[in-house]
Amino acid sequence: MEERACDRARRKLARALAVRSRGLLPACTPALAGGVAAAALAAAPGVREGVEPWLPATVLAALGVALLLALALRRSRGLWAVLALALAFDVAHRWGPTPDESSPAAFAWAATALLLPLVLATLVLGRDRPLGSAGGLGCGIAVAAAPLAAAFVWLSFQEKAIGAILHTPAGTPTPLPLAGLGAAGLASVVVLVRLLQRRTAFEGSVLGALWLAVGGLVAGRGSAWLPLLLALAALVVLVGMSRSAFELAFLDPLTGLPSRRALEEDLRGLDGPVVAAMVDIDHFKAVNDRHGHAVGDQVLRLVASRLAQVGGGGKAYRYGGEEFALLFPGRTLAQARPHVEAVREAIAASPFVLRNEDRPKRKPRRPGPSGTQPTLTVTVSGGLAEGRRGEPAAALKAADAALYRAKQAGRNRIC
Ligand code: GH3
Ligand code: MG
Ligand code: MG
Repeated sequence: MEERACDRARRKLARALAVRSRGLLPACTPALAGGVAAAALAAAPGVREGVEPWLPATVLAALGVALLLALALRRSRGLWAVLALALAFDVAHRWGPTPDESSPAAFAWAATALLLPLVLATLVLGRDRPLGSAGGLGCGIAVAAAPLAAAFVWLSFQEKAIGAILHTPAGTPTPLPLAGLGAAGLASVVVLVRLLQRRTAFEGSVLGALWLAVGGLVAGRGSAWLPLLLALAALVVLVGMSRSAFELAFLDPLTGLPSRRALEEDLRGLDGPVVAAMVDIDHFKAVNDRHGHAVGDQVLRLVASRLAQVGGGGKAYRYGGEEFALLFPGRTLAQARPHVEAVREAIAASPFVLRNEDRPKRKPRRPGPSGTQPTLTVTVSGGLAEGRRGEPAAALKAADAALYRAKQAGRNRIC
């Protein structure tokens, strides 16, 4: 009874955190780690002072590691985000506080406060491109050009622009100029929306980096927190980049479920008994043939999101094509079976609204008059098998044989 309540709570949480099967919480881990590190440094002033001499070397090392990761992962946005943070760090580190508010140091700081959030927001708006491609290099050139543009404004005495960048209304609690505050607010909205849409570790890490950097900028020019938080922000992006490597290797890009490679790794790590299920969409080729591959892909996502919510301690994987696997470590056949039946029934009972050409891209708040939207339902068949201790792979093989029997017996059933 208690276990059932637990499962229900787990499924509710999973639904809240993962409207699509890719979870929001894993995407936010780099940002949360950055927040925890900043809080720890605030609580331990001795440690904070101890790390200060190491900050320039840390930022330089972060830039080097970001370059290596960008080359290895064939995606460049992380490198450009770290480069933007390193340039901001250089401004913070090079120019200490001066009382003169019209000095180059004051302008460099105000321009950084304006440009850094905008650059980070632009990076999450774009797509990841390989480092050597025109798009990838163009993005890097744009990041490097931002401080050059600021230098041009300063050196050519563009007084109106300089005044606007430096303008700090009297009585505001932070020394951050108004333009910088506006850029921070705008960038926060852009990055947050992108994170909710894409749910990848990169977007999550940029949000963390942005808020750390803004925290440093709000602390003010000359504050010891500014270089410290900028360096921490660069490290957060690095963590985001390495989580992206994990996503590339172990998550299926179409459905967001763990991939077959993750399944193989998990099977290798199991030493107790396990129940495995193989689940296959019925007559899926007909769905593709009748409605096209794009609708087929959406059906795959829908089925995946239902399978991801399986209870009973089960974990869903995309095995390949329209086949999925479920693992229930430490469970018996009798314990796992009702949960597999429950997802099978949930899938059969979920009408999938077809996206016509004239159908709005987003789901409307209020459904149209009933009966006007063409819908499609799919069913799945599944095979379930129990594996003995030390033989988890055999369970998967037996589940596949049971799936074959389910298909033979007429589909939309679990054998
Ligand atoms: P059965 O009930 O016996 O399982 O019949 P079926 O049509 O589902 O099985 P079959 O193996 O004949 O066809 C599987 C189809 O799945 C063929 C392939 O085009 C389609 N498919 C595999 N991967 C994808 C994918 O990623 N996207 C889309 N849209 N279709 C896919
Ligand atoms: Mg099939
Ligand atoms: Mg199949």
